[in-house]
Amino acid sequence: MTKDDIITLPNSHLRQKSQRVGLISPEILQIVKDMKSATINWDESREHEVGVALAAVQIDRLYRIIIVRNDYDNKDDHTFTPLINPEIVKLEGEIVEDYEGCLSVPNIYGKVQRYNKVKVRALDLNGKQFRITAEGFMARILQHEIDHTNGLLFIDHIAEAPQAFFELNDEGKLEALDYAQDVKQNSLLWQ
Ligand SMILES: [Zn+2]
Repeated sequence: MTKDDIITLPNSHLRQKSQRVGLISPEILQIVKDMKSATINWDESREHEVGVALAAVQIDRLYRIIIVRNDYDNKDDHTFTPLINPEIVKLEGEIVEDYEGCLSVPNIYGKVQRYNKVKVRALDLNGKQFRITAEGFMARILQHEIDHTNGLLFIDHIAEAPQAFFELNDEGKLEALDYAQDVKQNSLLWQ
């Protein structure tokens, strides 16, 4: 799969709940492979961004599957950890605000409040349960991706926050968007 298989707004599937995975069948394993190749192909096409994670709904497969890049500081590292049926067990720590983007919400970034620490339970590709305790940026990624499995996008958390929306300029720097014009009235975002 390629970046062109990644669905973006206003595709309404992005706001649907994904279904739990029962058996980890060859079809499920293929979806995980497709998610990786689409993410890598996407970030090869972007100069200033790295695809750090993806949810299956983003390639239009509505299963509760996410993949998280093992080393998102290194664009050459193409390994990911897949999480099947990921669930948040506990949200902890402070609520912190930081920038987020999404492969399905092109060119828009937002300042989103998230818990700084999260405990997540999931299955690996052998169907074995494992747990992750994550802090900081990884905690943010996991909350963002698990939101996807529930049909929630990062912009839905900040829909009423005029100061929270940004775009990436040609130099790779974030610039504030005009909320009234570029965000609130942008029907692609809120259908
Ligand atoms: Zn996303």
